[in-house]
Amino acid sequence: MDCLFCSIIKGDIPSTKVYEDEFCLAFRDIAPQAPVHILIIPKAHIASANEITAENSAVVAHIFEVIPKIAEKEGFSSYRLISNIGEDACQSVKHLHFHILAGRKMAEQMA
Ligand code: AMP
Repeated sequence: MDCLFCSIIKGDIPSTKVYEDEFCLAFRDIAPQAPVHILIIPKAHIASANEITAENSAVVAHIFEVIPKIAEKEGFSSYRLISNIGEDACQSVKHLHFHILAGRKMAEQMA
């Protein structure tokens, strides 16, 4: 399967790692849209949040436990979490990821 984020997990494409464990990887977005822009992804390939099921949802709970640890380590406590799903939402990489955006006051309007 040709998946950019799977290649990053394998180490075939370099990334600036922020956090890694057995189940997930967090790295800096290559085109940051805020002073802090981190992506956190499951190591298992899940195409988007629309493909979360009872069988694979444990990794999502894990990711949501890891995010506050990243926030603490990076020194922020207010942030925006975004996951784009499908074409209308402009999902460009078809591997579930959560954008963690921080470091400035966000726009009130989200879309
Ligand atoms: P989305 O548009 O929600 O699918 O988000 C994909 C994100 O991946 C975008 O914010 C891109 O800037 C980011 N991205 C694409 N290629 C890389 C890469 N090689 N390393 C880090 N981030 C990337």
